[in-house]
Amino acid sequence: MKKHIAILGAGPSGLYVYKQLVERHPTDVTIDIFESKQQLGAGMPYSSEGANVEHITNVSGNEIPPLVTSVREWIQTLPEETLQRFGIDRQSFHSYRVLPRLLFGQYLSDQFSLLQEKARQLGLVTNVHLGSSVTDIIDEPDQQRVSVEVNQKDRFSFDAVIICTGHDWPKSHEGKIPGYFDSPYPPAKLRGVYNQTIALRGASLTAIDALRTLARANGTFRRNEAGKVVFESDAPDFRMVLHSRDGFLPAIRFHLEEPLVTRDALMDEAAIAANRDSNEGFLSLDFVFDENFKQSFKTKDPDFYDQIKDMKLEAFVETMMAQREQTDPFDLFRAEYQEAAQSIRHRESIYWKEMLAALSFSLNYPAKYFSAEDMHRLTKVLMPLISLVIAFVPQSSAEELLALHDAGRLSLIAVGSDSEVEPQPEGGVRYQYKDEAGKPQSQTYTTYVDCVGQPHLNVDSFPFESLKQAKCVSQARLAFQSAQAGREAMDENPKTVSQDSQGTYYMQVPGITITDDFQIVDPQGVASERIYNMAVPYMGGYNPDYSGLDFAQEASARIIGHILALEPASV
Ligand SMILES: Cc1cc2nc3c(=O)[nH]c(=O)nc-3n(C[C@H](O)[C@H](O)[C@H](O)COP(=O)(O)OP(=O)(O)OC[C@H]3O[C@@H](n4cnc5c(N)ncnc54)[C@H](O)[C@@H]3O)c2cc1C
Repeated sequence: MKKHIAILGAGPSGLYVYKQLVERHPTDVTIDIFESKQQLGAGMPYSSEGANVEHITNVSGNEIPPLVTSVREWIQTLPEETLQRFGIDRQSFHSYRVLPRLLFGQYLSDQFSLLQEKARQLGLVTNVHLGSSVTDIIDEPDQQRVSVEVNQKDRFSFDAVIICTGHDWPKSHEGKIPGYFDSPYPPAKLRGVYNQTIALRGASLTAIDALRTLARANGTFRRNEAGKVVFESDAPDFRMVLHSRDGFLPAIRFHLEEPLVTRDALMDEAAIAANRDSNEGFLSLDFVFDENFKQSFKTKDPDFYDQIKDMKLEAFVETMMAQREQTDPFDLFRAEYQEAAQSIRHRESIYWKEMLAALSFSLNYPAKYFSAEDMHRLTKVLMPLISLVIAFVPQSSAEELLALHDAGRLSLIAVGSDSEVEPQPEGGVRYQYKDEAGKPQSQTYTTYVDCVGQPHLNVDSFPFESLKQAKCVSQARLAFQSAQAGREAMDENPKTVSQDSQGTYYMQVPGITITDDFQIVDPQGVASERIYNMAVPYMGGYNPDYSGLDFAQEASARIIGHILALEPASV
């Protein structure tokens, strides 16, 4: 009998899931794809929902997990006017270049069409439903089927569904408080903000997206005779103020020795199992840090290995952060820009940063086996450094950021971890924070853009009501290894720490519970054989570095491998 599989949402995640199916082209499968928009493949970041012409990817063609044709080949097929619109020269284009996001969206869309064509040739039936928003998912355990409600009226029935509905940016005050933006997306909405001081919360890639649009609404960038990017504006009061917890700017893209992060970067499953066996079922973060990070320097960079070999994770992070703490963030950003330029020129990696990015990727799958204590260390100690490094700010964004700063239009404030943003009924916000000397500060702004990135969402926000009501989904959580640590955490955070009837303490982590193969899991710990979740806002707790095409490739291989009861394909 034919197995009927549905892909719900056809952005990049849906595309990689479909690719897995086409590559394996099982003879007994029919596929339905539901997409709320009219375009397949582009998803949010690579369509007008998430980009204007000025926005670029932070990955280059050679870092994109293979689809049908490479970006370089695809560029050669485009009409001249498309290339001109995005400032691309056909002859000099190479696979180390980052891409305008809207153009990349077209690439992904075309790849979807090529996969559909391949599927047709292979006899794999694919029914595509555009303009079809999935409004509910109903599990039917008795029939071992899943029903999908579309546009609140039509119903379709499947053997298995993969939720790929992607980004979700809930609105709190936007639309009610003038000058308040819950996110910079879709970026077209910022084009009208002119001649004023704008507060941005966050100082990483999302803030850079906002900077690039706001700068163009208030002035122009040009390259001067010395080849440097400068910003010019007729708006005398135009300023942007970034607010970040520690006052750091993210790190810049450099040459990667291994542009494609693949399964080779993942930890050996037997090593994970052995470590868990010796550690009350928990995977030790110190073990992962040693095995999957420190050891790699032994042969690649023995001097660096000697420096760090005796360091615990905390000491390593402190050492790497020390330079950031001692240097003005814009001076450091300029120095890192030069260092990255040299790395690209000589095609030489900055190895410790590359290994940190690989560590981050490899943490995704085993992170659900950390104790709550280790997850706390990961998120509070290591992730702040990882987040700075894996931002991979593209060179042109770095140049614009420095040009805005040099023009006196951009500054950065460290606001600490307990700052508050108070929306003002008449418009804008009041930003309250303590400065570096611990003195309370208060600043009002008529325009505010929240740029902290995709919020992590919990089970309560999960969009498919019937799955919540039937208790098919559960809040992600991790057990404490030490009962005393759990008790203390519960006293401090009674809302996010709980205790079960056996006395085990648990810390809530973002998103819903999923297995290694992305099956949803009910509150009793039973994994579904029919419903898989790849929706990014709901998996950050168990997959801390979930965002990116390399992740989509790996996750989709696991899901389709599980559904078809096959070994995961090599990626
Ligand atoms: C602004 C931004 C820039 C980024 N830039 C990069 C980058 O340069 N490099 C990189 O590697 N990663 C980048 N990322 C990471 C990014 O998360 C992934 O590349 C990718 O967008 C995840 O794809 P997705 O399909 O899961 O989600 P989405 O891109 O959000 O796509 C989800 C799709 O599902 C559809 N959909 C949603 N709800 C429904 C529904 N109910 N029914 C039917 N269809 C639905 C949507 O219309 C959309 O097409 C960026 C992320 C953001 C937010």
